Amino acid sequence: MTKYDVIVIGAGHAGIEAAHASAKLGCSTLLLTIDIDRIGALSCNPAVGGVSKGHLVREVDALGGLIGKITDKAAVAYRFLNRSKGKAVWATRVQVDKYLYPKIAREFLENTKNLTILQAKVKCLIVKNKKFVGIETNFGQMIEAGAAIICAGTFLKSTIHIGLNSFSGGRLGEESSDELFESIRKLKITTKHFKTGTCARLDKRSIDFLKMQEQVPDTDVIPFSFSNSQILTDQLSCYITRTNKKTHKIILANLNRSPLYTGKIKAHGVRYCPSLEDKIVRFGDREGHHIFIEPEGRDTNEVYPNGISTSLPLDAQIDFIHTIEGLEKAVVLRPGYGIEHGLIDARELDANLEAKKVGGLFFAGQVNGTTGYEEAAAQGFIAGVNAVLAVKGKKPLVLKREEAFIGVLIDDLTAKGTDEPYRMFTSRSEFRLSVRESNAIFRLSPLALKLKLIDKNEYERVLARQEEIKKTLTELAVVKVAFEGKKISLREILKRPNISFENIEKDLADKNISGSPLGKADGQVKIEAEIEVKYEAFLRREKVWQAELKHLERIKIPKMDFTKVPSLSKEVVEKLTKFKPGTLAEALRISGITPAAILAIYSFIKRR
Ligand SMILES: Cc1cc2nc3c(=O)[nH]c(=O)nc-3n(C[C@H](O)[C@H](O)[C@H](O)COP(=O)(O)OP(=O)(O)OC[C@H]3O[C@@H](n4cnc5c(N)ncnc54)[C@H](O)[C@@H]3O)c2cc1C
Repeated sequence: MTKYDVIVIGAGHAGIEAAHASAKLGCSTLLLTIDIDRIGALSCNPAVGGVSKGHLVREVDALGGLIGKITDKAAVAYRFLNRSKGKAVWATRVQVDKYLYPKIAREFLENTKNLTILQAKVKCLIVKNKKFVGIETNFGQMIEAGAAIICAGTFLKSTIHIGLNSFSGGRLGEESSDELFESIRKLKITTKHFKTGTCARLDKRSIDFLKMQEQVPDTDVIPFSFSNSQILTDQLSCYITRTNKKTHKIILANLNRSPLYTGKIKAHGVRYCPSLEDKIVRFGDREGHHIFIEPEGRDTNEVYPNGISTSLPLDAQIDFIHTIEGLEKAVVLRPGYGIEHGLIDARELDANLEAKKVGGLFFAGQVNGTTGYEEAAAQGFIAGVNAVLAVKGKKPLVLKREEAFIGVLIDDLTAKGTDEPYRMFTSRSEFRLSVRESNAIFRLSPLALKLKLIDKNEYERVLARQEEIKKTLTELAVVKVAFEGKKISLREILKRPNISFENIEKDLADKNISGSPLGKADGQVKIEAEIEVKYEAFLRREKVWQAELKHLERIKIPKMDFTKVPSLSKEVVEKLTKFKPGTLAEALRISGITPAAILAIYSFIKRR
């Protein structure tokens, strides 16, 4: 039997990172995937990042992963989201070329030492004495390994729905992975199904863009990967249109043919990324919903109408699309569809993403109940590193919530599980200012160096950037200018709510004050310096909260009847009984559990 250190099953966004991280750390790694031509396929929207998802991309990049690098190379448009808010919450979103992205992903993997990629479908996991030992493929290969990472995405026992027509499939045109799902179930790991969906794709030659509003990409955005200093490629615009009353009428008239509304789809769907029929039923009073016509690539006529995900029958899809301004004659190239896919309950996993019931068996990505490329990549990377650490008998890598959004994501999943597809949100983190997108590289690169995920040269570039920020902060404190009749430091001026770093730069230029290092600051330096100055007090407060939380982590909650705790609401009692948190810190992380409830439980435990 052939033998590897680590086997990765599935070459989606989780599998790419898992295989790369494992091979980079020196383990002989085998990446198995159903179709080698579909490595890194973008099943849905050809876009990476966005609010809080951008954090995950930059964190994986800081740790030495690939998603940021692939995205920068495949980018067709960059945008900063949340621009109307403070820089601490700006988020990067990048539109990518759907064809280029998988090509670049494959190139990265093919150039990774210690990594073998094979096309094969894993049908069976071999486990002995509660320990993973190997796999069997559909071609009859038996392969041994010290650990495996299951990154099978939306493919586990999946059903595709287009109207009332449903059939087996992991993605449109691709087969479902039923035997692997059965093999997981045989290990007594709890499984369930979730639902997600995508929209029809259109031919851009049939669209009247003159009837739509153009959205031009931003030119001042910072590339996703710290290894890239500037955006090199030309960028493409998006176009905005909206649904209207006629669109809504057609959708409502066809609900009796919708798998969602006839009860054919039973699984829970993504609450925050609903289908168009969902939006119209839930927000019926709205006049219209925005649709963003996004390019799918440079060399294709196919475009992605973001906002009209649906599983209605194809004829109804075509009819409602033709009611939309600019899309009256749109040619539908592929139908939208819904998919129900199998997954595991992530509470079956330890915080290192290893199954509690089977040593050496790891899970990452959509199979753990998440949705999104970024969530998948983040888990894949951590599972890849942890599989290596397990094989080498070393301590696992578990990022803390106050260290990274990845820490929040994995802690939420493994401690609380999820009843619906989980996507990252800024509000899920208690430390939104100190754990921000723009400082991911500074937060995580020391750890990446320690784990040998990045080399010394890469780390020195990070230190140099940190030094630039420090110098800029000193300059801001030292240089004084006349402002509102007084001479005050630039730092004091920057503290004002409506004054940005760019305002100060412009003012210095207008006053002809030259020779200041401020003029040389690059994008990230400006953003970081401004955040450090503007949010100084808030950042200090977050540090205090972090210290307090450390104590909560130490306070264990014994087996108890929460109905006996005075002043807890029914909802709080229900949640505590359901999730059974082990410590006060875990209890606080459950959504809806307030600090006041924590105090009540604390007093109760102490009294007992
Ligand atoms: C219809 C649809 C709509 C979606 N809509 C959204 C959305 O609106 N928003 C959003 O953020 N995300 C959406 N997604 C989800 C997004 O595509 C996933 O979150 C992301 O791709 C998950 O990455 P992954 O690596 O976990 O799995 P995937 O990208 O699904 O990759 C899974 C990989 O596993 C391989 N595989 C499966 N079984 C086996 C086996 N037995 N042996 C070997 N290889 C195997 C497959 O070939 C594939 O390479 C959608 C996905 C689909 C299919």
